[in-house]
Amino acid sequence: MNVLLVYAHPEPRSLNGAIRDFAVQRLRDAGHQVQVSDLYAMQWKAQLDGADTKAQPGNAPFHPSLDSKHAFENGLQSDDIAHEQEKLRWADAVILQFPLWWFSMPAILKGWVERVYAYGFAYGVGEHSDERWGDRYGEGSLAGKRAMLIVTTGGWESHYSPRGINGPIDDILFPIHHGILYYPGSDVLPPYLVYRTSKVDEARFAGIREELGQRLDMLGTTAPIPFRRQNAGDYRIPQLTLREEVEPGAVGFAAHVQ
Ligand SMILES: Cc1cc2nc3c(=O)[nH]c(=O)nc-3n(C[C@H](O)[C@H](O)[C@H](O)COP(=O)(O)OP(=O)(O)OC[C@H]3O[C@@H](n4cnc5c(N)ncnc54)[C@H](O)[C@@H]3O)c2cc1C
Repeated sequence: MNVLLVYAHPEPRSLNGAIRDFAVQRLRDAGHQVQVSDLYAMQWKAQLDGADTKAQPGNAPFHPSLDSKHAFENGLQSDDIAHEQEKLRWADAVILQFPLWWFSMPAILKGWVERVYAYGFAYGVGEHSDERWGDRYGEGSLAGKRAMLIVTTGGWESHYSPRGINGPIDDILFPIHHGILYYPGSDVLPPYLVYRTSKVDEARFAGIREELGQRLDMLGTTAPIPFRRQNAGDYRIPQLTLREEVEPGAVGFAAHVQ
């Protein structure tokens, strides 16, 4: 498979750096082609702004989504954005690896998503009508690809358990899993998590190599999280609410998983 690893940590000699090096080696040893987008090393520009298009600036105010659409459709995107989109088209599997910072991804990775996920590429795709609401949530330009998170957290596993004070990890990661990876069509695999990072030592790192190694060996076969598909009948369109007969009474993030 072609695997794109998008990596967001500022320090190569960190735990994340060691995990990344292990993951890349493991994947290559298994015969996969691997590209790494090391966002800090690339000095990735995180902020979405008017410099993202090569179109001549006119008098019209900058519009984040419409200017993105125009640049995407007319080959006027800045080169760094177009290059990352090429990598996504090339990839059969995409891994986002990052330390959990303030209950989400580091800003530089969020900026990668905001800029690379252009209008027409990752959103605004397909027919929007009273029968269909675009190609998204299970359909879209990244359909057929696999996606997985590798996330490290300072918090303990119990802190992220169903009754843990931080909230369940599935809920915390839902906006990334469902809103960023599933939205443009990828099949989302369960994440690989390393909790309580301050207690990682050589012995625990050996366990990480073992567990993560197995997960990477099964990258092409692991069953994805069974998110409901938008256009497969579970949702009323255009309201985009679950039909009354689908798991009556179920609300919240978990209701969107079959
Ligand atoms: C801005 C910010 C916000 C944060 N928000 C949250 C949050 O919302 N929720 C939360 O849970 N946590 C949060 N944290 C904590 C953060 O998630 C952890 O600090 C991070 O996941 C640790 O990853 P690291 O790669 O930086 O680890 P490092 O600090 O590099 O390493 C962690 C441990 O691993 C050991 N180690 C490193 N490399 C190896 C190796 N090769 N072999 C064996 N041991 C090794 C180190 O000795 C160290 O003990 C936050 C941290 C910051 C800075």
